[in-house]
Amino acid sequence: MTSNNPQTREWQALSNDHHLAPFSDFKQLKEKGPRIITSAKGVYLWDSEGNKILDGMAGLWCVAIGYGRDELADAASKQMRELPYYNLFFQTAHPPVLELAKAIADIAPEGMNHVFFTGSGSEGNDTMLRMVRHYWAIKGQPNKKVIISRKNGYHGSTVAGASLGGMTYMHEQGDLPIPGIVHIAQPYWFAEGGDMTPEEFGVWAANQLEEKILEVGVDNVGAFIAEPIQGAGGVIIPPETYWPRIKEILAKYDILFVADEVICGFGRTGEWFGSDFYDLKPDMMTIAKGLTSGYIPMGGLIVRDEVVAVLNEGGDFNHGFTYSGHPVAAAVALENIRIMRDEKIIEHVHAETAPYLQSRLRELNDHPLVGEVRGVGLLGAIELVQDKATRKRYEGKGVGMICRTFCFDNGLIMRAVGDTMIIAPPLVITKAEIDELVTKARKCLDLTLSALQA
Ligand SMILES: *Cc1c(COP(=O)(O)O)cnc(C)c1O
Repeated sequence: MTSNNPQTREWQALSNDHHLAPFSDFKQLKEKGPRIITSAKGVYLWDSEGNKILDGMAGLWCVAIGYGRDELADAASKQMRELPYYNLFFQTAHPPVLELAKAIADIAPEGMNHVFFTGSGSEGNDTMLRMVRHYWAIKGQPNKKVIISRKNGYHGSTVAGASLGGMTYMHEQGDLPIPGIVHIAQPYWFAEGGDMTPEEFGVWAANQLEEKILEVGVDNVGAFIAEPIQGAGGVIIPPETYWPRIKEILAKYDILFVADEVICGFGRTGEWFGSDFYDLKPDMMTIAKGLTSGYIPMGGLIVRDEVVAVLNEGGDFNHGFTYSGHPVAAAVALENIRIMRDEKIIEHVHAETAPYLQSRLRELNDHPLVGEVRGVGLLGAIELVQDKATRKRYEGKGVGMICRTFCFDNGLIMRAVGDTMIIAPPLVITKAEIDELVTKARKCLDLTLSALQA
């Protein structure tokens, strides 16, 4: 706790005395004290020390339309006064949830017209697991329970979410994954491609799905779940051969395909959904984050018509949350989608800012520390290496964390996943703000390299 500002020290003391923070080393956080973020506007954050910071991560990938939009606050306020809460259990509904379901059906891929609402992405994936198994049971194939997922995928932090995810450091705590969830290799060429070309590796990684289906037995497999682009795993853009080969395999076997669109959905790739970008035609799509631009918690599961037709024959689905389709969250999501549509935010990303960000980011390829720059839409990753040609890392130096700290101290949030720096700025970032982001990123790469050489 090094701050000279008494107000910051006071807040840090409260953190120390009372708060257990998510995904944090409690003891370390007590020693260092959290940075206190106090306000935000557009793509910028301000902390309690008065620093202005460019948020290259849109919070946690979610603040799509940027901070400080009064329309969302007004929508929440209006709905709170009119009907702050009512549930959707036992044959009741309310206007905001119905209007939101329709608005989502309008933008979702063809044939995906129904939405089950949850409070988060994790709950969306819990819902998926239960719905997939219920679906196959109704169809008289109750053994089709196994969900195939991928190593280093991220699907949330509930018991089912963390089990579906392929993060070993999450599995290690709490005896996960739960039974009935198995993982295959990820399409991460830079780290795992070895001597294969990206194209060869993409086919190899996709073929792992077929091998796993055959190993488990197609009569036991209910679904395959994947993020169109892995986010938390390190913005992993699959080689071009990957999704086409996966689609061939999915067409061959009678299993459901779930696209986890929690990051890719709502414009991140320059299309409404990552499934549009890669033409994936999933049976279900998990959504959250950009759905409300993070202004209020909400998630959901969009379900294909043919699946709904089967569920309609299955009697009660014994699943739901007190806050499923919460009216205030629904009103905020509706307003968020209206803004995205009316202001043509995704079209602008597609035509203008995504190509600009991608070309400017790739200028960093000439930096001695950079092994690869990759990205799609407003997602980007920078691989930090010791040797460009062999993709060899600086072992045990924590280069990513060093770089992340330089970024924070120089007014830029870039997240570190190991030695991979990642960005996912708000979709409303301007070209001038992209220039600022890239300039700051280069400066921090320089500072990181100097620190390594010292
Ligand atoms: C963030 C995330 C989740 C979990 O969403 P929460 O709202 O944190 O529960 C699930 N899947 C993906 C791909 C995510 O990025």
